[in-house]
Amino acid sequence: MSVIDKCAAYTRARTARESGLYPYFLAFDGRDAGTARLADGREVVMCGSNDYLGLSTDPRVTEAAAEAALRHGAGCTGSRFLNGNLELHDRLERELAAFFGKPAALMLTTGYQANLAAVAGLCGPGDTLFVDKEAHASLIDAARMSRARIQWFAHNDTAALAAKLDRLPGRGGRMVIVDGVYSMEGDLCPLPELVRVCEEYGATLLVDDAHGAGVLDKGRGTCSHFGLTDRVPLITLTFSKAFGSIGGAVLGDEDVIDYLRHNARSLMFSASASPANAAAALESLRILRAEPWRCSSVVDNADFMRRELAALGYEVGASTTPIVPVGSGDELATLRAWQLLVDQGVYVNAVLPPAASPRLRTSYTAVQTRAQLDRALRGFAAVRERVLGVPGQGTAPRAT
Ligand code: PMP
Repeated sequence: MSVIDKCAAYTRARTARESGLYPYFLAFDGRDAGTARLADGREVVMCGSNDYLGLSTDPRVTEAAAEAALRHGAGCTGSRFLNGNLELHDRLERELAAFFGKPAALMLTTGYQANLAAVAGLCGPGDTLFVDKEAHASLIDAARMSRARIQWFAHNDTAALAAKLDRLPGRGGRMVIVDGVYSMEGDLCPLPELVRVCEEYGATLLVDDAHGAGVLDKGRGTCSHFGLTDRVPLITLTFSKAFGSIGGAVLGDEDVIDYLRHNARSLMFSASASPANAAAALESLRILRAEPWRCSSVVDNADFMRRELAALGYEVGASTTPIVPVGSGDELATLRAWQLLVDQGVYVNAVLPPAASPRLRTSYTAVQTRAQLDRALRGFAAVRERVLGVPGQGTAPRAT
């Protein structure tokens, strides 16, 4: 049997497309900070991007990107290790390290690659990784790529983690891997407890702060929010969310970062971030320092939506971040809810297994206006009965 035989038999996506309930690869053609235009010309309020600070379309950021492209080219045509390094990449690293309060930073082309670098660059056969069950897919892939032994622990359960560390002393190194802010539920990791357990057992803690960096604690992220940056040895970041660009970074001690520079395969064997992306991330960092109101505004917008959606009867998670998960029943009900909302001019993300249990993932930006959020709420109100089943009933959401 050929490895491609299964493709013809793969009907899940085709069936969904034919039934008109296919929430992926929707084509957009233009957007601003709060809305987006679909390729068919319809405009939707964007309640599903990670552009938390509204910087991806900020003219200062797009101009910095354009200037860098004109000056350095569209791409660097090589890895940073060899011919693809710019002074721009080095400058961004220095500024990131200073802003986030770590001795050194390493910039990679995506956040995904930053996680591959930090985990697979430092761990190998003989080591053990302790991974939160809800950790991001890139961390899971990184753990598998490292060929270290993997131990899963229940989400945010530090007692379970401590029990595993206690039971598995092992001879190799040990790394604990968590997200700072979990991308689907928007909840925070219990950092003080994690730090305590890791220090007690001599395990290296890695916090992927893709969703906390740029947002929490005036942008300094989850570790700073808890006042524990110094006690978290490894932090990874992405520029594809609050920084409105593309790219990623690993933050840590000088010797660790220097080791990764010469050993992390996702850095050494992949082209560097484009000049435009590096310059955009640098400009976003400058703006975020100068305009800390963005960090509170995005949380205020999310709080407003969380409150109003709950008042409409929707089940919303208890997060305190820009991510507001909305209960939408089973897979089919979630797809129907997604389609109904798009028809009302509201874009959200339909999340289905295996990514997570079915739900609508909504997220907000610092620059969405009250009028835009009100428009989104009118959309949610219009479909409420069909999504929730019974008017005003918040539990057990189901579609008709
Ligand atoms: N970590 C987390 C928690 C994420 O949510 C994401 C992106 N969805 C990544 C890492 C990967 O980041 P990037 O998009 O820059 O590859």
